[in-house]
Amino acid sequence: MKDKIIDDAVRRVHDFPKKGICFYDITGLLVQPKVFNYCINKMLEFCKILPIDAVAAIEARGFVFAAPIAMQLGVPLILVRKKGKLPGEVYQASYSLEYGEATIEVHKSDIKKGQNILVLDDLIATGGTLNATRSIIEKGEASVVAFLGVIGLPFLNYKEVLKDKLVHTLIEFESE
Ligand code: AMP
Repeated sequence: MKDKIIDDAVRRVHDFPKKGICFYDITGLLVQPKVFNYCINKMLEFCKILPIDAVAAIEARGFVFAAPIAMQLGVPLILVRKKGKLPGEVYQASYSLEYGEATIEVHKSDIKKGQNILVLDDLIATGGTLNATRSIIEKGEASVVAFLGVIGLPFLNYKEVLKDKLVHTLIEFESE
């Protein structure tokens, strides 16, 4: 059954940022501290069963959820940023989005060999962003322990793309 608390807090914006796309807006969730806290606790519940050495957060909305999770778990927070934002030496990966193309980067020094890394974003659609993040993590000789999102859009096929790893979301939406 769909989680009603989260369902009610996520706004659907049709034809944004392009015609034909339904944008799932989590800002309505962030302005309700109880709902935000509820989501963080749900995510932490999932994390409890995993050996997590670090949390990798996807720019930008992934940062918001990943920061309290990493802090609560007492592990490093690794920022996965859009190209050109990080000042140090980086690993890089390019991929296609539900709408458009992108390149992401992570500081090489942030990934330690052998780490089990939880990768966290607000929403998982095609799985392209998370898959690109996985390739960066593997360049650093670490591995993905799980992918975690608030929202999953399974009709965009992320389960197939990420199938060899544990994937968890708090709520799934079907195509409208
Ligand atoms: P993907 O790589 O296709 O799984 O896309 C995931 C990333 O794009 C996340 O960082 C989301 O914030 C953003 N995104 C993709 N599709 C949507 C959507 N329909 N609504 C809101 N955010 C989206």
